[in-house]
Amino acid sequence: MIIDFFLGFIKIHILYHASKEPVFGLELIKELARHGYHISPGTLYPILHRLLNEEYLTIETKVVNGKVRKYYRITARGKRALKECTGKIHELVEEVVEGR
Ligand SMILES: [Zn+2]
Repeated sequence: MIIDFFLGFIKIHILYHASKEPVFGLELIKELARHGYHISPGTLYPILHRLLNEEYLTIETKVVNGKVRKYYRITARGKRALKECTGKIHELVEEVVEGR
């Protein structure tokens, strides 16, 4: 189970990575684990589906080594959300981390 706060952080990590290059599920699971979020595909995929439904991400399929793989890419709406979150993150770090 993941607590609500982390869910927001995880979504921001996903948007950020999808803004750099198209990403696939397993890659995101490894990347999130690197940040200390150990989540299963059963947790990740519903989050990705929500981001798709809300049009923050789009999906495309590619065939890699004979396997069909789903890649997620950020949308213009996703980029706007990420930009807005970045400002809020600065604000949060300034106050909560740096005590200003
Ligand atoms: Zn990362």
